[in-house]
Amino acid sequence: MASTPSPTPAGGASSNAWMVVRLKVNSDILSYYAISLTGLIAIFILGHWTRRLAWSASRSTGLYPITALTRIIRKGFLRKLSGFTSIGHAVLVAAYVGLNALFSFYRVDSSKAGNYASRFGWMATANLAFVDAGTYTGYFIKGGRIYILQQEDVTAGIVLGFAMLFTVLAGVTLRRMKYELFYIIHLVLFVVIVVTLGLHRPHLEEERALIVTIIIAGLWLFDRLLRFTRLAYNSINNEATIYPLPNGGTRIVLKKPMARARPGKHCYVWLPHIRAFETHPFTIVATEPMELIINTYSGFTGDLHKYANENPGATLKVSVEGPYGTLPDPMDYDKVVLVAGGSGATFTTGLAVDMIQRLSPDSRKQIEFIWATRNSDNIAWFTQHLSHLATHECAPKIALKLHLTGAKTIEKTEMASAPIPRSPSQISTIMESIPPSILENGIETPRLSTQASSIALRERELEKIDTIDRVERIEEVPTRIKGLSLPVIYGRPDVEALIREAVASTSTDQRVLIAACGPNNLVDTVRNTTASCIRVDGPSVELHIEQFGW
Ligand SMILES: Cc1cc2nc3c(=O)[nH]c(=O)nc-3n(C[C@H](O)[C@H](O)[C@H](O)COP(=O)(O)OP(=O)(O)OC[C@H]3O[C@@H](n4cnc5c(N)ncnc54)[C@H](O)[C@@H]3O)c2cc1C
Repeated sequence: MASTPSPTPAGGASSNAWMVVRLKVNSDILSYYAISLTGLIAIFILGHWTRRLAWSASRSTGLYPITALTRIIRKGFLRKLSGFTSIGHAVLVAAYVGLNALFSFYRVDSSKAGNYASRFGWMATANLAFVDAGTYTGYFIKGGRIYILQQEDVTAGIVLGFAMLFTVLAGVTLRRMKYELFYIIHLVLFVVIVVTLGLHRPHLEEERALIVTIIIAGLWLFDRLLRFTRLAYNSINNEATIYPLPNGGTRIVLKKPMARARPGKHCYVWLPHIRAFETHPFTIVATEPMELIINTYSGFTGDLHKYANENPGATLKVSVEGPYGTLPDPMDYDKVVLVAGGSGATFTTGLAVDMIQRLSPDSRKQIEFIWATRNSDNIAWFTQHLSHLATHECAPKIALKLHLTGAKTIEKTEMASAPIPRSPSQISTIMESIPPSILENGIETPRLSTQASSIALRERELEKIDTIDRVERIEEVPTRIKGLSLPVIYGRPDVEALIREAVASTSTDQRVLIAACGPNNLVDTVRNTTASCIRVDGPSVELHIEQFGW
C-alpha cells in the first residue's frame, strides 16, 4: 500500500518535486482502488454463479454442502433492512463505502478526506473528485499560487468537480420531482464530466487517462447509438392503439411484436404525439399482441390518459426500445407464488398468463396468484387476462386470489350485487360493476372529461387507505357472466400466511418461486417472509422482486 508523503512547504523546487511524488502516489492509489473494486465485483459474480450452481444442484445430494451454505447466507441477506433494499444490499454498500473511506484517507489532507468520505462515501467517484479538488485548491491558495488554478487542465478539473456536484444534487432533489429535467441535466453533465476528465489529466501516465476517457465516451456513444437504432427500427410500420381504462388507466396495444419480448420484462415506449422527446419504461403484459397497461401520474402518463379519454381506440405512431430486465423462468419451478399490489399486477398478470399458456394439461406445476387492489375498477384493467386464466384448460392449476381492500369497493358492490354484503369480509363476484374493456368487446368505454379524469385521480388519492383489513370470513356468492365467475375476496390478503403455506406444502425436492411487485410495505413483507422460509432442509425457494422505479 502506498504511503502518503508528509506535506512540504508550498512553493519552490521542493514543492514541485513533492507534486511529482503526489502524482505518482495518486496514480498508485487509483490502481489499488481499481483492483479492489474489481475484487468486489469478482466476489459478487462468484457469489451469483455459486448460487446458480447451488440452485441447479438443489435436487442432487452430492452438492448438498454448497446448497446448504448458499441457503444460510440468503436467509440472512434477503431480509429487509431499513434504508436499504435488503441486508445483502447493506453489506455490499458497506464494503463499497469502506473501500472509498479507506482510499480517501490516503489523500494529502486526510482530515478533509475523512469528512468527504463520511458524507459522500457511497458515491465513490464524486467523493474522490471532491477530495482531490478541495485539497489541491487549498494547497495552491495557501502557497500563493492561484495562477495555477487558471491553467487549462486545472480549469477543466474545476468544471469537472462542479459537474459532479450538480449531478449528485440533481439526483437527490430533481429526480423525483421533475424526472425529465433531471434526465436532461444528467446527460449533459455526463458529457461534461467525460470531456473535462480527459482535459483535466491529458498527460497522466503517458496519456492513458485521455485514452480511457475516449474509451468511456465511445462506449457511452455506442450504447446511445444502439438504443437509437433499435428505437428507429421498432418504429418502422408500428402503431399503438390507445384505450382508456377506468380509474386512470390506459392500455396500449402495439401493431408490431418486439424481438425477445417476454411478459414481465419492460421496455421504453416512445409516443411522439404525446411527448416528442421522452421515452418511459413500462412492463410488458402480453406479447401477442404486445400490450402495456399504464397507471396515470402527472406527466407523460397524465397526457396519455387524457388523450385516450378524448380519442378512445385511436392509433398513434409508436416505437419501443428494449426489452430489459432479467427474470427467472417460472417454468423452472414446481410452484410459483405471484404477489401484486395495485398496478404491480401488470408484472404478475403477464407472468401468470405466459406460464399457463406453456403448461401441459398433465403438468403438476401450480400457480398462486395473489392480487390486492383498493378499487374494483382496477380489476377491469386485467379482465381479459384474468378471464383467460380462469377459463384456460389448466385453470385448476392456478389459485386466483383477488382481494379488494378499498372503501369505495364495498359501496359499489353493495349497490351492484345481491345479497348485500353485511360483513366487511365477504367473497363475491364483481363482474357487474366492471365496465368491460374495449379490447374485450369493442364497446367504447365511456369518455371521461379532463375534469372528470382529474376528479378520478383525486378520488384515487383518497382511496389510498385500506379500509378493510384482514379477511375474517369467506362467503361465495357466485354470479355467472358469459359462463365466467371471478371470485373476489374483500379484505387484505394475509400475504405472510399465504407464502408460508405455499412453501410448507411443497416437498423438499421441489422448487418454489415467489415473485412480487407492488407498494414497498407489501414487497417488504414478501421479502422477509421468503427469507424466513428458506431452510437448509426445505424446498428450494427463490425470490424475485420487480420495482417500478429506481
Ligand atoms: C422497470 C419499470 C417498469 C415499469 N412498469 C410500469 C407499468 O407496467 N405500468 C405503469 O403504470 N408504470 C410502470 N412504471 C412506472 C412508469 O415508468 C412511470 O410511472 C412513468 O414513467 C411516469 O411518467 P410521468 O411523466 O407521468 O411521471 P411524473 O408524474 O413526471 O412522475 C411520477 C414518478 O415517475 C417517475 N418517472 C418519471 N419518468 C420516469 C422514467 N422515464 N423512468 C423512470 N421513472 C420515471 C418520477 O421520478 C416520479 O417518481 C415502470 C417503471 C419502471 C422503472
